[in-house]
Formats: sequence, structure tokens, C-alpha cells
Amino acid sequence: MFTIANGIILRGLNLEPIKANLVVDDGIVIDISKDALEGKIIDVSGSIIAPTFLNGHTHIGDSIIKDEGYGLSLSEMVKPPNGVKHRALASAEDDDIIGAMRASMIEMLESGTTHFIDYREGGLKGVKLLKEASKGIPITPIILGRDDSFYGDDPDLSKVKIAIRKLLKEADGIAPSGFGEITDDVAKLIVEECAKAGKISSIHVAESESNQSDSLNKFDKTEIERGVESNFNQLVHCTNPKNDDLDLIKKSSANIVVCPRANATLNVGVVPLNEMLNLGIKPILGTDNLMLNSPNMFRELEFTLKLMSVVFKNYLNPCELLKMATTNSYTCDFSKSFIEIDQENNFIVLKHFSKNPYLSIINRSETKNILYTKDINYSNNIFDV
Ligand SMILES: [Zn+2]
Repeated sequence: MFTIANGIILRGLNLEPIKANLVVDDGIVIDISKDALEGKIIDVSGSIIAPTFLNGHTHIGDSIIKDEGYGLSLSEMVKPPNGVKHRALASAEDDDIIGAMRASMIEMLESGTTHFIDYREGGLKGVKLLKEASKGIPITPIILGRDDSFYGDDPDLSKVKIAIRKLLKEADGIAPSGFGEITDDVAKLIVEECAKAGKISSIHVAESESNQSDSLNKFDKTEIERGVESNFNQLVHCTNPKNDDLDLIKKSSANIVVCPRANATLNVGVVPLNEMLNLGIKPILGTDNLMLNSPNMFRELEFTLKLMSVVFKNYLNPCELLKMATTNSYTCDFSKSFIEIDQENNFIVLKHFSKNPYLSIINRSETKNILYTKDINYSNNIFDV
């Protein structure tokens, strides 16, 4: 048993800073109060105790081709089935994919992430490979699978249904790539089957201007309209909203995931986060393809804060931004059933650099400034407990 004393705890869904001691017994927080003092006392005066990060969007499979294809277009890089990533994944050995995914998960854990929502390619086998890769690492992958039967202009819907049901036995949900690759019938089936199974249906929308104009030309609807109308419970990107897209998002119960660094790398635009926050939308933050970006949330946070100032000439609220990497995910429509996040028991202790705990994390903290994470085998834990 030990007490982390005199820290600033960012507590509750609003990350309210409170000064208190935190008593931990066998990895479980048993008391948080001003006077608690039990077991070994570790004085962390002024350090910040924050929830661990949830990375809202990754494609961990492409860890095998980090930084390859830089400078290519969005579709040349990631569009199935001929994008750089899909060709690389199709020709890779299972052991190499597993090894690369393990390395990325350890990197995430070391940089304070304990949960991530992954779009896993490769069908049922792909889902199983990620489960295998995560064995023994104290991180929770929330796995969304897909199947090749989803694609094409005239897919066999009975085959699609069987593939979805098989996937849902192993995965936490289904995530096709985007509306450019599937028909509305397939989208409908995915949403229905996920809802029946109580699992997550997620899709990329409005990542690029051309995604949006293709959708408008072909269907007279934006990808965001189609995503909301199809009742997907998670929409990823929304980088290029048009018409009434933001109002539609606001009125829908869909969870929104934004990935500003990935959008920047692929040169597809800047998500209007300031506007989303002003409308009361509560997005979550993701780092997207491992081939494009490190999955380190500190990097995503600082980049996002400053990019929004540069582009929209307006300051992003740092507390709201930190919530996008932590507690916003706890209130998603699907989170209760899938993301068993016990906020009080998933925390990191961070060195403090300034009196503003949010900016201290976003502006100044790096992996090496994590003083404690729950699992000592994979952390920079300096506490001798
Ligand atoms: Zn993605």
C-alpha cells in the first residue's frame, strides 16, 4: 500500500483539479482525500494525477510500414484494396504484423495510453492477430473489424451478414473504411447487426473534400449526412463538414473522433474543432494510421492546440482538449458497454511544469515526465513500491 501525497488530481468527467492524497493498495485506489496517509508516503508535491489516455482512432496493423509512402495522396496511401497499406498488409507475415503491433502497444502504454479504438483490417484473422499481439500487455484494444465481402458495387448481402456476425463474435464492433467503398445496403446491415449485438458501428466520413464532393455528386448527400442517417454510432474525421453537417452531428447521438495530425500528414484539411466545441459537440481525439503518426497522445494534444490557434485565430480551451483525450470517451453512447474505464484506477502521475495543469500536460509533458503508471513493467515508474 502507498499514498501519493500532495498531488493535483484532475478528477471526474470535467477534470476538475483538486489537491488531495491518493491511497493505492495492490493497484487499486482505495481512498482519495486531503487527509489520507497510509503505507509508504510518496510526496509528489504539485505533480498532476490525470486519467490515462484513450486513443480514439488507430490502424495499428500498419505499424509494419511506419513512414512509408510519405507525400502520396489519401487514396494512394490507405484506400482499400490497392493503397500502400493494403498491399503491405497483404504481403506481410503474421509474425511481423504481430511484432510491429506489440511494439506500438508498448509505445502507447509508455506514453500514458491504456485504451485505444482500432480499425483492424484483414477480416476475422486480423482481429485475432491483434488479440494475440496484445496478450500480456496491460492495454485494452477496442477492436473494430471489417471484411472484404463488404466491398464492390453489388456485394452479396447474405455473405456480408454472415461475415459481420462472425466478426462480432470476436470484435467489439465493425468499421468499414468509408462510404466510397461500400453501398448503403452494406452500411445498413453493419449498423443493424452491431446494434443487435450491442456493439460499435463506426465509419470514416468527410476526411477529404473529394470524399464529400463525390458523395454529393452521387447521392446528393454529404458523407456526414449519410453517416448520421445510417445511425452509425461513431463517425471518424468530419474534417470537411459542409452545409448543415455540424448541426446534424450536434443533433445526433454519434460519437465523433477527430485526428488533426493525420489530416495534416495527408494534406486533407483542418477539422473545425473550435466550432464543434462551441456547438457543444464532445469529440474524442485519435492518432489514426500508425504508418503516418506516432500513437503518442502528448504529440497529438500539443499539435492540436496550436494548429487550431493558427488556422482559426482563436484559442482552444485546454481543459476541453484534454477531455478529448480522456474523459469525453466515457460519455459516448457506446462507452458503458464497451469501454470499461475505471477512471480512478487508470491514472498517470506527471511531473508538473506550470500552475495550469492542462497546459502543463499539453504544452510541456513528454513520456519521460510520467512518474508513475499502474503497471510497473511497462512504465517509467520511479516509485519504489
Ligand atoms: Zn482511419
